[in-house]
Amino acid sequence: MINLDKKTREKYNAIAQECQEYEPIAAARNLSMAYGEDEVEDAGCDSCIHFNDGECDIYKREAEETY
Ligand code: SF4
Repeated sequence: MINLDKKTREKYNAIAQECQEYEPIAAARNLSMAYGEDEVEDAGCDSCIHFNDGECDIYKREAEETY
């Protein structure tokens, strides 16, 4: 996973928290399973299969509205 500055990290996390479509990528899913969790704890858009380098429509809408 790429190194993000704090503001970007917060943005990704905040949007993912609100998002109904969040679907963790395999790596994130495996990690949470390894910890015996059903949910990916620090979920962020960058660990979502829909993110597609910021091309997710929901992400783009939220990022424009909120940030
Ligand atoms: S990338 Fe898109 S679908 Fe995934 S959590 Fe973010 S806004 Fe939601």
